[in-house]
Amino acid sequence: MMPDTKITQSARWKRPVVSAAMLCVFVSIEAGLLANQAISASGPSASDVFRWPAGQQGAVTLSYDDAIVSHFESVAPQLEKAQLRGTFYIQIDSPGFRLHTDAWRKVARAGHELGNHSLFHPCRKDRPDEHTWLSDDYNLSKYTPDRWLGEMRIANLVLQLIDGRTERTFGNTCCNNHVGPLDDRTSLEKLIPRLFVGARGEYVSRPIDPLNANFTAVGHYSGDSKSFEQLRSEIESAVRKGQWIFYMFHGVGEGTHSLYIDAHEHRKLVEYLAANKDRIWTAPAIDVIGYLKASARQSQ
Ligand SMILES: [Zn+2]
Repeated sequence: MMPDTKITQSARWKRPVVSAAMLCVFVSIEAGLLANQAISASGPSASDVFRWPAGQQGAVTLSYDDAIVSHFESVAPQLEKAQLRGTFYIQIDSPGFRLHTDAWRKVARAGHELGNHSLFHPCRKDRPDEHTWLSDDYNLSKYTPDRWLGEMRIANLVLQLIDGRTERTFGNTCCNNHVGPLDDRTSLEKLIPRLFVGARGEYVSRPIDPLNANFTAVGHYSGDSKSFEQLRSEIESAVRKGQWIFYMFHGVGEGTHSLYIDAHEHRKLVEYLAANKDRIWTAPAIDVIGYLKASARQSQ
């Protein structure tokens, strides 16, 4: 057994950024809340503790960016075979999505989250040598907040037509978290609550404290190019502290994307997470955020 991962509520919860009711979505929430009720009968009150669902000790989210073909051809089925689910951050105007909407509908039906990764994948081009692969038309430093909101609203609508869902998370493009010129930037954290239940936020290589999660920018790790041993070490470190670790991947296997994790290393990761389901909750970002928000409401 790992050490008890009960977390004393030493700091206040941040209030949910969106008031949307998510209680009905997550069956697993009930197990966690029942655990809290059991605790209140034998010691600390429910407001004093946090527990992950079903006795698990930490959480992992695997997210995959850019809607590439191998995601629905091999990654999603591999996760499903292991009874795991992930978040796929979809760029709407990419061939991997536009030409394969039926395949993505099947991914959503299997229980994965289709997250919003924009229509056109805008990124900051503050220097001439930055993101030269991207048209200047999609320079985030020239976007206004309204333009960003309009683009993401339509991307949400397209995804809703695929999966029927009205709530999802946002995975930022090029890990950028601001729009507008450097001397007058607007943080996406101000805009996220208008369209999303939460967002992956910046690449900070820091696990998330479930009692202090900032849902507008939770913070993530990159999994690209890492070995399974590196990933396992990071995950075990987070789980020992009862935390949530959020990974961004692009391709899986050489040739799938310029950024990728070796297919063999990824397979070992999936097998490890499947073998440790009793300790580690592997779930889409929207499910983890929903659980944390519901737990926060319960503790109030
Ligand atoms: Zn991307």
